[in-house]
Amino acid sequence: MTTPASFGLWYHPLYTDGIHPEARFPRDRYRLLLDRLQAAESAPIMTVHRPEPVSKTHLLVAHDAEYVERFLSGELTEKEEKRIGLTPWTPAMIERTKVLMGGAVEATEHAVRYGGLAGNMAGGTHHAHRDFGSGYCVFNDLAVCALHALENLGVARVAIVDLDVHQGDGTATILADEARTCTISVHCSTNFPFRKSVSDHDLPIPPESGDAVYLETVAQALGVCEAFKPDLILYQAGVDGLEADALGKLRVSREGMRKRNQLVFEAAEALNVPLVVFMGGGYAKPIDASLDAFEDLFSDAAQWNQRIRTQGDPCVRR
Ligand SMILES: [Zn+2]
Repeated sequence: MTTPASFGLWYHPLYTDGIHPEARFPRDRYRLLLDRLQAAESAPIMTVHRPEPVSKTHLLVAHDAEYVERFLSGELTEKEEKRIGLTPWTPAMIERTKVLMGGAVEATEHAVRYGGLAGNMAGGTHHAHRDFGSGYCVFNDLAVCALHALENLGVARVAIVDLDVHQGDGTATILADEARTCTISVHCSTNFPFRKSVSDHDLPIPPESGDAVYLETVAQALGVCEAFKPDLILYQAGVDGLEADALGKLRVSREGMRKRNQLVFEAAEALNVPLVVFMGGGYAKPIDASLDAFEDLFSDAAQWNQRIRTQGDPCVRR
């Protein structure tokens, strides 16, 4: 049973098993991370939930009906599948995507209901656009959860803080005309996507920036977030800015990543609003350095959540 004080983390075996074993994507990171978290010191203050598949209605708040329909019935073209990139494609991708999106929606509902922090151990699928997928992303969990919170959960303003090394281009485009959301992206200026979208606030930084520039820019981004006065924060916590990452280029240290997360948690606490953690990118070779940083992320989120909930006065909606 979930106790309100516990950190809710959504996970499904399909997060790994729904991707073809020969895909270039490091699919084992999900399974390996769960093993680590279950053995971690923070395990007793964390509750792992198994998500239900998302309903089509939730997808339609942010996505084109024809695209949703064609994906769910396995009718994407080979070109569309290649653009998403989790190839070779397998029929299990459909169910995987449904539970991944379900995990995001359930984590968001949990955070809004109980306050504090919650997370999905996958996703942060910020390269998915309204009518096509891209860069390992089929549907955009950040846009879906933001719009779901606005339409159905009594939330008035949502900030999306995207600190993955890649720009949150799909999120920016889907939410471009939505005044109740604020999209903020800190990313490496010379990285995928090479044709950038326009977020409400883009904070690009050059390759090789390292901890000092990165953390200073994250602090600026959080200043923008606080000024927006959101009542929910969605955090894309990709760790592909790590120096060990194969795709990152930013040279951020493990300690720097950890400090970054703390800054985000502090901002949510200062605003007294719930925060949902979306996993995001992490492609170190071997994968261990990414796993270290993700373990830090979810363990620290659980500790932070525990402290906020047990101190009382969380932002609770019932
Ligand atoms: Zn990324």
